[in-house]
Amino acid sequence: MNFTDFNFHPQVAAGITAAGYITPTPIQDQGIPPVMQGLDVMGLAQTGTGKTAAFALPILHRLMNGERGKVRALIVAPTRELAEQINEAINLLGKQTRLKSITIYGGVAVNPQIDKLKQGVDIVVACPGRLLDHIGQGTINLSRLEVLVLDEADQMFDMGFLPDIRKILKHIPEKRQSLLFSATMPDDIRRLASDILSKPVTIQVGNTAPPVTVSHAIYPVEQHLKTALLLELLCHTDTESVLIFTRTKHRAKRLGEQLEKAGYTAASLQGNLSQNRRQAALDGFRDGSYQILVATDIAARGIDVSQVSHVVNYDIPDTPEAYIHRIGRTGRAARSGDAFTLVTSEDTGMVRTIEKRLNAQIERRTIEGFDYSVPAPHKDSEFARPPRPPQNHKKPAKRDATHATPGRPGAPKSPSTGRPQSQAGKPAQPSSAPAARHPQRAPRAR
Ligand code: AMP
Repeated sequence: MNFTDFNFHPQVAAGITAAGYITPTPIQDQGIPPVMQGLDVMGLAQTGTGKTAAFALPILHRLMNGERGKVRALIVAPTRELAEQINEAINLLGKQTRLKSITIYGGVAVNPQIDKLKQGVDIVVACPGRLLDHIGQGTINLSRLEVLVLDEADQMFDMGFLPDIRKILKHIPEKRQSLLFSATMPDDIRRLASDILSKPVTIQVGNTAPPVTVSHAIYPVEQHLKTALLLELLCHTDTESVLIFTRTKHRAKRLGEQLEKAGYTAASLQGNLSQNRRQAALDGFRDGSYQILVATDIAARGIDVSQVSHVVNYDIPDTPEAYIHRIGRTGRAARSGDAFTLVTSEDTGMVRTIEKRLNAQIERRTIEGFDYSVPAPHKDSEFARPPRPPQNHKKPAKRDATHATPGRPGAPKSPSTGRPQSQAGKPAQPSSAPAARHPQRAPRAR
């Protein structure tokens, strides 16, 4: 199938060309025709399959006819990152259409959103909480709504948004087209789907299988050696952009600092960041100014980083679904990617569960020359061990205060910046540090 077979409005077709899409992905092949016909659709698809365009293109096509400046399409997403990403896709694909799309989410000022709504918009991409605020205050008019999309419904359920979704449903016209996308179909989502969709066409695209292009590997390691092994791994791998997952935001922050200290350009995404700083971290990762982004599952939700070359599970996820969701970010749209998971002996059960789900054994790897026998200096010290120098490093790095975790007592601070001196001045490992192997890249094409 080719995009021309869908007979999109010429201005929508121009957007597809501008985005550089040539062949529709399987979910687009299967999903676009029924959505174009105005049917309700339940799409079982994970991030990375091209699902955004599968609903965005038919919506843009539909809105080309009819009055402008009224909210006729509403897309509800669990996180602000996903909302931004969907809005970006709509703006890219709809560049020639002059249709207006905005995002609405909390954590930012409400007045600019109200102003934009007053000026008139055609598409709203919203997170549930702030959308309900606008509905409550009468600052959004949804009486002309024609299409509702619930994206990543299972994530919305995980994040406790289902009651909000049900409230939103009470404020939109009953006669509408509804589309629901979810990577998994737990009972609650099935119930929600049967409540809101009318005679839906169900489309299923690799909802449980991870992308075929991803190669998986497990690196058994003791907890206290995780950071050292990660640095060694990064040093030995030709990485372009690496997304690292940790169990807690605290660990994400500290690991981000350690990686920076080891000479990488790294940012961490934690729930505590302001929206501006989150956005700056995401933008920096996307345009290549950060090689590494460290995040928790929650903070990473909705990230669209189509060119992630590696996903590293610094901490193994809690469920096989989370594993698949995390690695769904690599190997996106048929690019190849690698997924590395650091596991301790405590993770054996979860490894088995994941392998059962994948229906395959994941390769175990060890790094030659890495000293696995270093004992733990003290409890919970995986961050305390200084990064092991790359193998071609002549002298082992001294365990001195410059290698201490930033913020710890003993880490000398630059008088001018207050940052640890190894950051404020030169990289900690000047000649053969990872940074030298990864010179600052030019921003990548998106
Ligand atoms: P999504 O699953 O919607 O998050 O899309 C994943 C990535 O695939 C995004 O970066 C899209 O820009 C890209 N993409 C979507 N459809 C196509 C297509 N037909 N050809 C190439 N890339 C695509």
